[in-house]
Amino acid sequence: MEDTLKILVVDDDEVDRMAVRYALTKTGIQMELSEVVDGNDMFSILNTTDYDCVFLSVRLPDQAGLTLIQQLRSSEIKVPLVVLTSQEDQQTAVQLLKAGATDYLSKSRISPENLAQVLRSAIRVYRAEIQVALAKDQLRESYEQLLCKNQELERQQQQLQMQNFKLSEASVLKSHFLATMSHELRTPMNAIIGFSQILLRPKFGQLTHQQADMVERILNNGKHLLMLVNEVLDFSKLQAGRLDLKAERFDVSKVTNLAVSEMRSLADAKNLSLLVQIDLQNPLVYNDPIRVKQILINLLSNAIKFTEFGEIWVEVKELPANRVAIIVRDTGIGIAPKDFKHIFEAFRQVDQTLTRKYPGTGLGLAIIDSLVRMMGGKIFLESKLGIGSMFKIELPRQITLSSVGDDIHLQLDNERVFCYAKNPHNSYSQARQASIGYP
Ligand code: ADP
Repeated sequence: MEDTLKILVVDDDEVDRMAVRYALTKTGIQMELSEVVDGNDMFSILNTTDYDCVFLSVRLPDQAGLTLIQQLRSSEIKVPLVVLTSQEDQQTAVQLLKAGATDYLSKSRISPENLAQVLRSAIRVYRAEIQVALAKDQLRESYEQLLCKNQELERQQQQLQMQNFKLSEASVLKSHFLATMSHELRTPMNAIIGFSQILLRPKFGQLTHQQADMVERILNNGKHLLMLVNEVLDFSKLQAGRLDLKAERFDVSKVTNLAVSEMRSLADAKNLSLLVQIDLQNPLVYNDPIRVKQILINLLSNAIKFTEFGEIWVEVKELPANRVAIIVRDTGIGIAPKDFKHIFEAFRQVDQTLTRKYPGTGLGLAIIDSLVRMMGGKIFLESKLGIGSMFKIELPRQITLSSVGDDIHLQLDNERVFCYAKNPHNSYSQARQASIGYP
């Protein structure tokens, strides 16, 4: 600040100008002094030259002086402004500072000391004000940038929500399509199976050996196809949250023996022993017997399919805490630990190639997994490649139907999809409803 300062004095009174000039030169501050007599000259000179401070004389209460200060402040010219006035009262001070003066000094108090002090403080205050204004500008800029980023984020969030919405709608549509197609396929399949069975009955006419063989093949393939279609139907129902358990009290040993007897011919065809051990003090359970049998049939058909020689054991036993275990063990090809997690995912098979040795949809274990969850049970798998596998299902003796389902439950009702979300009371409240357009 002690470089040579450029100072402008604006006063139409020559005597006053002289007094200011004299006092300024006596301050000891190195300065270059210019003088003009009115506002017009002040603007002209300030437009072309930069000054470190302006001393402006105004006559109050004449409004012209205040207007001049305001004009200077609203112009592009940035300079500290000390107003020299003949009055010295609080009202004048407020008026001047409000109009934009950096500081003011009564003409009666002009002295080298006072002028030096007011000059230094005006320059300091003005520089601080400039820095504050600069910081404010930067803050405003950052705020605007933040606003822009916020808007961008909101836009991206909306896009994500939109994509999520479309994805879940596509998934519901897919499940709906699978359910409809499977349903439509079942009707002709049942006719094929039914009529093949009728054809095989002797009372409808004796078939030649070759004809009977062909009808049997039609029947077996029809049954196999129906099983595959049923798997797809169950899976799509489970995905759409439309599969309900129909719980009742039943004898789990009877259901186990029934499932085993249905699968025995397949095991016999591969020369596999099928052994059953039921170790239950109380065979009664409260569950859905059809779905429990389906779990057993799926596990048994896998065990038979993936075993070339040896045995298959089925064991049912009691567990602590009122639970029951259903275990299916085989001496088949086994599963590598790295595949344990994946085989419970829909359509996932250890061998995913088209030329794979073992046929199947890859839905059996996914269905079992969903059913066991709905029943509030757990699945355990132990297996060693080349040695065999053990699937153990642990189920509560009595299932609670409220534990059915996931947090989100989609229900298809002809043309509408109802989406229910689990509320804090563990029941479902409707969260969203969307329409599916049919062609
Ligand atoms: P799928 O039998 O129709 O292929 P699953 O969902 O029932 O479908 O089984 C998924 C995969 O898990 C099977 O393809 C097979 O690779 C593996 N797997 C299931 N059970 C057994 C088993 N007992 N022994 C060996 N591998 C098995």
